[in-house]
Amino acid sequence: MKTEIIRLDGDVPNTSIDLRILKFAGSDAQAPKAYLQSSLHGAELPGQAALHFLIPMLKKAAEENRILGDITLVPQANPVASDQWSTHQHMGRFDAFSKVNFNRDFPLLNNFDTSSLPAIDAPISLVRRLKAQLLRLALPHDIVLDLHCDDESESYLYSANLFAEGIQDLAVALGSTAILTWNDEVAGAPPFEDACAHPVLKMKRSELDLKRRLVTTIEFRGLTDVYAESGKSDAEGLYKFLVHRGTVSDEGVKLEGSYKGLVTPFDNVEIVRAPVGGMIFYHTEPGDVVEKDAKLVTIVSVPGEPEHDVVVTAPQPGRVLTRRSVRYIRRGDDLVKLLADKPSQIIKKPGSLEA
Ligand SMILES: [Zn+2]
Repeated sequence: MKTEIIRLDGDVPNTSIDLRILKFAGSDAQAPKAYLQSSLHGAELPGQAALHFLIPMLKKAAEENRILGDITLVPQANPVASDQWSTHQHMGRFDAFSKVNFNRDFPLLNNFDTSSLPAIDAPISLVRRLKAQLLRLALPHDIVLDLHCDDESESYLYSANLFAEGIQDLAVALGSTAILTWNDEVAGAPPFEDACAHPVLKMKRSELDLKRRLVTTIEFRGLTDVYAESGKSDAEGLYKFLVHRGTVSDEGVKLEGSYKGLVTPFDNVEIVRAPVGGMIFYHTEPGDVVEKDAKLVTIVSVPGEPEHDVVVTAPQPGRVLTRRSVRYIRRGDDLVKLLADKPSQIIKKPGSLEA
């Protein structure tokens, strides 16, 4: 394994960040190459925990000459977000300077030629140079896994429609309960996943091997699901997947079983929002299957006067995928992601993630 540090200067003198990149060289040029990054949102740590345990497994494989395809890992993909704190709290989702979500606004390329991306010393902000750098690192790989987590959540995956079938081996390996598919249409300020998928979506179908190529965002459960045990089992899942795809060789490891979870088009994800602000009582948790009009959340805006409570119900039958970890919310906040059979009536933008 080779460790590389790429230093990017900050936007004011005497500041910089270090991007730590781990590289395993594959012995077979034909084997699929894999890129894994975690914590693009700073303190989303279940994926970082998984890489913490995966890297020693890959080191062992390297010592035994079992790494077939090149593997690149960036366990702390966003030092800017990792170091963003305010009033004793971590704030890793949005760039405090621009208010832009760190997982939006990646550059879009029509092919795998990264030579037009801004260099690390280009006269643009650090965050934009970092995004270009992450894309430059990821694009030469057949498999790109961006490791995130939701708030309180089951383990699930995002995937362009194109990868919806091919991704099921990863879902089996990780025990994911849902695959959320988007419509292969990349919007203007795309997340990392969409930016990495875009050149693949532009390929001629005849040149595209979907057993080899995969770009996905992995949502490894919720923010506080950070434990050695789950990290180890997620690492074993990722390792099993890499063996299954032929990036690592291991006779003792076999991926078995077929995917039994949901494959839900993103149009069918009901993002249930709060009509008023206040204290919330959840009546459901991730994994629950609910009927139409089932009580999801009670919002208390006038404590002591239950007649003012607002009960938020399921707009259609479905499975609760996620909910919030906080219990005090604002009007318009997301409360629940519900996976439904029919399209939601709420209009969504193209691309992989909600607004
Ligand atoms: Zn995230």
